[in-house]
Amino acid sequence: MRALTWHGKHDVRVETVDDPKIINPRDLILKVTATAICGSDLHIYDSFIPSMMAGDVLGHEFMGEVVEVGPALRGEGDNAPLKVGDRVVVPFNIACGNCRPCKTGQFSGCDNSIPAEKGDISEVAYGHAVSGIFDYSHMTGGYAGGQAEYVRVPYGDVGPVKVPDGLTDEQVLFLSDIFPTGWMAAENCGIEAGDTIAVWGCGPVGQFAIRSALLQGAAKVIAIDHHANRLAMAKAAGAEVLNYHEVKVREALMELTGGRGPDACIDAVGMEAHGFSPDNIADAAKAAVRLATDRTHALREVIMACRKGGHVSVPGVYGGVTDKFPVGAFMEKGLTMKTGQTHTQKYMKQLLELIQLGQIDPTFVISHRLPLEEAAQGYRLFKDNQDEVTKVVLRP
Ligand SMILES: [Zn+2]
Ligand SMILES: [Zn+2]
Repeated sequence: MRALTWHGKHDVRVETVDDPKIINPRDLILKVTATAICGSDLHIYDSFIPSMMAGDVLGHEFMGEVVEVGPALRGEGDNAPLKVGDRVVVPFNIACGNCRPCKTGQFSGCDNSIPAEKGDISEVAYGHAVSGIFDYSHMTGGYAGGQAEYVRVPYGDVGPVKVPDGLTDEQVLFLSDIFPTGWMAAENCGIEAGDTIAVWGCGPVGQFAIRSALLQGAAKVIAIDHHANRLAMAKAAGAEVLNYHEVKVREALMELTGGRGPDACIDAVGMEAHGFSPDNIADAAKAAVRLATDRTHALREVIMACRKGGHVSVPGVYGGVTDKFPVGAFMEKGLTMKTGQTHTQKYMKQLLELIQLGQIDPTFVISHRLPLEEAAQGYRLFKDNQDEVTKVVLRP
C-alpha cells in the first residue's frame, strides 16, 4: 500500500510499504478514506519527538471503512459492534477499555496499549509507561499511523465510532483528535457562568477550544495569536482577539478583564512556541544544544496572566523538560492546572451528537485538501505557511 513515512527532520515521503495485518484478536483493518495532518505531526516533522524511526508511517487523525475484523470481534453481542463495511472514525489514542484508567474514563492513561517491549522508553522519561498513540513515535507504542491506504486499529471494539449515514467524512474526521482535544481543554477550565477564558494559540486545537468554551457557557473568550487569518477565524467564532505582535498580552488581558485576569487560560501552543521574548530566545538556544527540550513561553505567560484561583488548561503538547517555570506564581495564586493527552474515546459520541444537531460544523477549519500522494507537500505547506494553512485533509 502507499503511506506517508518519516525519514528525519523535514523529510517525509509517500512510499510503498507492507499492508497492515491483523496481529491481535481485537484488531481491525481500516481502508482509510480521509486523514488529516495535525499540528502535533509538525513536532515529529521538526524532529522534536524522540524515538522516531526511519520508515515510521505517520498520521493519527483518520477515518475509513472496516475491511477486516479480528477473531474476537466476529460474532454477535457487545464484543462485536463493528462489521466489515462499517464506516468509522478512530480516536488518535489507543486504549484497551478494560484497565482501571480506561474503566474510569482516563483512556489516555490506558495501562495496556503499549507493547511490553516499548514500555521502558516512556517509563524512564515520565515515571510511567504512557498509553499508545498512532504514529506518535516508539515511546507511544510504535504503531503505524493512518496517513496511508490502510491501517491496523487495535482494540477495534473500544475506539472506533460508527458514522451515521448523511454525515460526510469531513464533518466527522476531527472527532479523531482536535475537536475532543479542544472540548476537553475547555472542560478542564471548569467554566462557570460569566467566566472569561483566554486561549493562547489559534491553530486547529485552539479554534476548537474557543468554540467549545462558548458552547460550554463561557461569557467571553479572548484568543491570542499573531496569524491574521487564524485570528479572523477565532473572531468569526465569537472570540475577542489579541495579536501578540501588536499588544502586550498580559496588559491587554488585564484591561479586558477589569484588572482581574482571565478566569481560565488555555495553552494551545505547546512545545514549539515562537516569538522573540527573552525567555523564548533562551529556550530556543537551549533546545538547540539539548539543554532543554520544550519551549514553554506560552505556559509561562498563561500562569502569569491567569486570575488568582483560576484554572490553567494545557492541551498543547509537551514532551520533555523546561526551566524558568514560574512555580512561585503558580503556587501563590492558587492556580489549578489540568492537562494530558485527550481522553478522546470519552467524548466522541457526545460531540458527534453536537455535529448532528448542527451546533458546530467542524469543516470550518479545513483550508487545504490534497491526495495522499502529495502529503509531503502538505507538511511543507503547513509548516511554512501557518497563516493560510489551518488544516490539511489528505485523501488516499
Ligand atoms: Zn492530532
Ligand atoms: Zn486500558
